[in-house]
Amino acid sequence: RQPEIPHIVFLFSDTGGGHRSASEAIIEAIELEFPNQITYEMVDLFRDYAPPPLNKAPEIYPPLSRIPAAWSFGYRQTNSPRRIRNINNVAWPYIRRSIYRLMEEHPCDLIVSVHPLMNTPVLRTLRNRRNPFITVVTDMVSTHAAWYDNRADLIIVPTNIARENGIEFGIDPEKIKVVGLPVADKFCHMKEDSQEIRQRLGWPTDLPVILLIGGGEGMGPLEKTAHAINDAHLNAALVIIAGRNRDLKDRLEKHNWNMPVTIYGFVKNMPDLMQASNVLVTKAGPGTISEACIAGLPIILYSKMPGQEDGNVDYVVNEGAGVWAPEPEMVVQTLQKWLREPELRWQTASACRRIARPQAAREIARILAARVGITHPE
Ligand code: UDP
Repeated sequence: RQPEIPHIVFLFSDTGGGHRSASEAIIEAIELEFPNQITYEMVDLFRDYAPPPLNKAPEIYPPLSRIPAAWSFGYRQTNSPRRIRNINNVAWPYIRRSIYRLMEEHPCDLIVSVHPLMNTPVLRTLRNRRNPFITVVTDMVSTHAAWYDNRADLIIVPTNIARENGIEFGIDPEKIKVVGLPVADKFCHMKEDSQEIRQRLGWPTDLPVILLIGGGEGMGPLEKTAHAINDAHLNAALVIIAGRNRDLKDRLEKHNWNMPVTIYGFVKNMPDLMQASNVLVTKAGPGTISEACIAGLPIILYSKMPGQEDGNVDYVVNEGAGVWAPEPEMVVQTLQKWLREPELRWQTASACRRIARPQAAREIARILAARVGITHPE
């Protein structure tokens, strides 16, 4: 870091793909809005600092999230400010050294947390320091109590419902600002047209493309859903993103498909893939939903993480931006309907655009920059 330039530390973890994507989107927006005026770093607090077994959280998250009943139970049992306080009190003697070491090793002018579990422990450490602390909530609607700690200077949320949740959890209303979920700039400024992208990617150019995603980890019954789509003999091509789930990718590659199928692992070009597709079938991840809304891509939600993603499903369905299809047959039925009647797809796509917040990352960048004393010249 250059001492004369303000420095921001982003606390995230690779539990899923959304926390990383959100930090990267904000950093990109800072660079676009304030080039070379701010330095930053991303710290995976779990992987780099937490004592074992918490340091394995990014590895533990995918298998744990595949046991919905356990996840849901854990979510409900911890979802209150009092319980979060109690859990942090119990964990404190165990984690405090790690958190203090983190603060020593990453001096900065502003801490930005994009992870629910980093707020209370770090804010507790900051008690006697002056570092400002901003939380950027990366869940959309069913926002867990752990996101909200009144000691934060500001809590940025994606929706009004997330703001109301915060107020209910005891946060001063003036501390919570609704901005949107930060999404990579490329989603907002696509330069290439769909056909060009398809040609470049080697996809069919004469068929509608169904994009199937299970979050950063290839979660939900992705394989079963892919097989059901394949067995339905739709007049379409299928693109499957297995994310970091290597076993899943291997199995998908060995399958004998009867439609044009392209399989990827974790991709870095999601804006291109969404721009070049006609329908998205996805787990109800907030990042993926927000990106699809900006891309105007009608959404079929085939699974959700119980608890934290429940509200996302209601939100998408109530806004008319997509449908909830928790069984592979329901996914197939919706696809059949949308392929038969493209105007239904277009209506859904325009509802997506209506709720999209493409400016969120840049707006957040401006808020953070102002906090470290950098503003746009008028
Ligand atoms: N993502 C990606 N490459 C992949 C799979 C996912 O860049 O191969 C990104 C996706 O675009 C989104 C994030 O990972 O930004 C997933 O976040 P989401 O909130 O949808 O789900 P999570 O994985 O956090 O549960």
